[in-house]
Parts: sequence; structure tokens; C-alpha cells
Amino acid sequence: MVDTVCDSATPPESVHVLRDDDAGLNGIIVLHSTRRGPAAGGCRLWRYGDHAALVGDAMRLAEGMTYKNAMADLPLGGGKAVLNLPEGDFDRRRLFAAFGRAVARLEGDYVTAEDVGTSVADMEAVRGETRHVAGLPPRDGRPGGDPSPWTARGVFLAMEEAARRQLGSELKGLRVAVQGLGHVGSALCGMLHQAGARLIVAEPRPGIAAEIACRYDAEIMGRDSILDARCAIFAPCALGGVLDAENIRRLRASVVCGAANNVLATPEDGDRLVDRSILYAPDYVVNSGGIISVAGEYLGWSIDEVATRVHATGVRLGAVLSHAAQNGLAPHRAADALARARIVAAPAPAAAVREAA
Ligand code: NAD
Repeated sequence: MVDTVCDSATPPESVHVLRDDDAGLNGIIVLHSTRRGPAAGGCRLWRYGDHAALVGDAMRLAEGMTYKNAMADLPLGGGKAVLNLPEGDFDRRRLFAAFGRAVARLEGDYVTAEDVGTSVADMEAVRGETRHVAGLPPRDGRPGGDPSPWTARGVFLAMEEAARRQLGSELKGLRVAVQGLGHVGSALCGMLHQAGARLIVAEPRPGIAAEIACRYDAEIMGRDSILDARCAIFAPCALGGVLDAENIRRLRASVVCGAANNVLATPEDGDRLVDRSILYAPDYVVNSGGIISVAGEYLGWSIDEVATRVHATGVRLGAVLSHAAQNGLAPHRAADALARARIVAAPAPAAAVREAA
């Protein structure tokens, strides 16, 4: 998996190579920015064709986290860990304990959590070695656990805002095409169904597709053909880089708003959406619910605080779209400009936040 990021890359503050052959650990941690606080971003476990692909993915994802955390107004910088999935059988606990020791060596400059390919159980193994980890089972009514439902809630609220602006409509009665029925996509379908939207779904696991279709009265389309779906909203909730020059020509939706990171293959693809009068809700503005939950868990917030911040996702998207309209910018470029302004305005790395954690 090689995700692409929306805008030109800025160099990371530091890159840490992880290698423990006995534990099967082979990867990197990228600290893109600690300017707003500890670099926070999940740990991805994926099989990469070569090391360059792994490094490229980690760099882009870490930078994306800097922007996402700034736009969500979190006292956190951006970082990411990317590990190569070992061949054959391996001891998962041992692998994540070794990863935990690597996180511990960074002494709070990096905070990890789940990402694609990693689970709550993996983060528990990390917790055995360091406290700089979130996404652990919730305790005493505090935030924690799988952050995906929060991500889905934020995407849903952003979609409401986008539909109001672009279509002058509520979600009720609109056709929404959801690509990918994993943790976020399936939760999003539940919320959309409850709001009265009509669902079209695509998912390579036929059993899951059938289950969601049955539960929410959804139409199933093929993985590729969902791009041609007659719908008001296209919600990419599977892979990054899904919209390129070729695919954008096929879209019939008026709005693109989904959970996937790095939806646009290149920044120019965001301009292509503008040319086609399709409103693009920038990915890292709308999919920050999960990292808000992770931040709340790490920084000791209440669930109410997390909920309040996630519920502001629609308002944050509205601010980005207004800034775009006022300045004649495409939404993805407006989001980048606002995020950069927040990052530059931050004081030196926030030691106070580290101590509070
Ligand atoms: P997931 O792995 O649980 O789900 C992804 C789903 O997409 C899987 O069901 C998979 O089978 C399906 N899929 C793969 N290729 C597909 C294709 N070509 N067409 C249709 N479906 C396809 O992941 P998730 O946690 O639901 O996250 C979804 C996306 O949102 C990812 O890009 C992730 O990086 C991003 N994201 C997730 C969170 C979170 O809280 N989980 C937060 C921010 C961003």
C-alpha cells in the first residue's frame, strides 16, 4: 500500500529505523513534526514490495498526521510508524513488544496507536513497554479502544455539512456510495441508514457486503464499478489514492467525503474535482475523529470532551470550505493553507503536554 499525500512534502524532523531480527521487527518511525506537541499517529503493519515503498508511505502518512492534528486543533504534532509484515508465522506479541521498546526510546516524542493492520491487542503488547500508546481497551468510562466509530461519526457530520452546502439538502433521501465496509465504512453505513440515506456499497469480502446490504437495505456494486455509481455522495472508506485523473472523469457524485487517508492521488486531482464542480471534503479534515479519541485517551480527557471535539467536525469543514470560497481556492488547498498557518503559529514543542500525559 503506498498512499499519496495531497501537497508537496516537507521534510520530517527525524526518522528512526527499527530492526530486531529475532522479533521480526523491520520498519521505521517518522517524526514529521513535534511543533504542536508529541508526534502522534498510528502504527501500520503492511507487506511492502521494497523498503523504499515502506519509507515513502511512512513519510507521507506522518506528514498527513501533522496536518490532521493541527486542523483538529489537537496539542499534538504528527508522526507514523510503519512496519513490514513478516513472511510466514510470527509471534505478534513479541513483535509489538519490540516495537514498544522502540517507542519507549523516543521518550514521549512519539505517541502510537492502531492503524491499518494493527489491533487493540497489539497496542496492549506495546503498553507492556511504554506508556506512550493509545487505543487500549477503555477503562472507568474514559476514552479508549477502537477509534473507528469516532472516525465514522466525524465523517457523517462532515457529510451533512457538505450536502447542505453543495446540494442544499439533508442526507435523507440522498444516494450515498460507500467504498469499503471495514471498521469505519460499516459504522458509517449504520449512521447513514438511520439518517434516511439510500446506500450503495462495494467491498471485496462478499459476506460482509451481503450482511451490510441486508441490514441497511443497500445496493451492492463491484469494487471498480462503484466509481460510476449514480449517487449524490461518494464516500471512499478503503484505500488511499483512489481518485486520479482517470477515475475523476467517471464520478457522478456531487460530493466526495469519506474516511480514507490521502484520497487524492495528486493535488492536481483536487483541482480536477473543482473543474467538475464536485465538492471535495478534504480527507484529513473529515477523518480526524479517531485521532481525537486517541488524543483524549492519551491526554486524559473525558468522553464528553472527545465527543464535543468530534461533533465539531462539520463546523471545521465549514470553515475550510468558507476559506476556500473567500480566497478562490480548491478545498484541499484551503485546508493545507489553514493547517500550515496553525503549525507555523505554534510555539516551540510543547513540553507541558508531554508531562501531562
Ligand atoms: P479497514 O481495513 O477496517 O477497512 C477497509 C475496508 O476496505 C476493508 O473491508 C477492505 O476489504 C475494503 N477494501 C479494500 N480494497 C477495496 C476496494 N478496492 N474497494 C472496496 N473496498 C475495499 O480500515 P478502516 O479502519 O475502516 O479505515 C478505512 C480507511 O479510513 C483507511 O484508508 C484508513 O487509513 C482510513 N482511516 C481510518 C481511521 C480509523 O479510525 N479506523 C481513521 C482515519 C482514517
